[in-house]
Amino acid sequence: GENLPEETIAVIGLGRFGSAVAESLTRLGHEVLAIDERPEIVQRASETLTHVVQADSTESAVLVQLGIGEFDHVVVAIGTDIEASVLTVLACEEAGVREIWAKAINAKHGQILHRTGAHHVVYPEWAMGERVAHLVSGRMLDFIEFDDGFAIVKTKAPTEAIGKTLGESRLRSKYGVTVVGVKQPGEDFTYATPDTVVSEGDTLIVSGATTKVEAFASTT
Ligand code: ADP
Repeated sequence: GENLPEETIAVIGLGRFGSAVAESLTRLGHEVLAIDERPEIVQRASETLTHVVQADSTESAVLVQLGIGEFDHVVVAIGTDIEASVLTVLACEEAGVREIWAKAINAKHGQILHRTGAHHVVYPEWAMGERVAHLVSGRMLDFIEFDDGFAIVKTKAPTEAIGKTLGESRLRSKYGVTVVGVKQPGEDFTYATPDTVVSEGDTLIVSGATTKVEAFASTT
């Protein structure tokens, strides 16, 4: 937020995932230090990012020199080279980084990263694969799952809700889900009320337990 003190963030490893993280953080208004060991990667990243440094992050002395311990958040976005990923997380942990995020390519890699000091481990390929599975099946147009088994999805309105108010179609008692918003084609989302009428072609934002939301979005 604009009233919060500036937070400092470093992104280590500027492959496909790391560069997306660094560019998004920059677009969100953060100062980002981006690090990669390969000169050609550093050169390409310099076209879109302000602070890019060429360094081998497995050399903990180099990280210390860059002041890595002073960063509020560090994202270790090295995937393929598991050894480099683990050594980098370890170096960040030893340098006293407050919050370490790390990308893992599989569950074992993730376990090691947790043990090594990563506070958050993400599995981008796995997470996106799971998301696409939800989108290709059923009526889902978008799917976000929180780690406590709760999800919010965007879905086409089911046939049974069309031509009725949300109060009349009783989706909550039937499916255990809550319709949060309704959108007509070309319009903005409006907050759902029991009096909101759902029409053919409308899009719904629905929340609830993941399994409930999945079941709801697979009805026609
Ligand atoms: P992606 O799948 O997101 O492209 P990769 O694992 O292929 O991720 O890319 C990781 C990036 O991290 C590469 O650009 C690579 O040069 C960089 N990298 C790997 N090892 C180190 C290291 N020891 N120090 C700094 N950068 C590294």
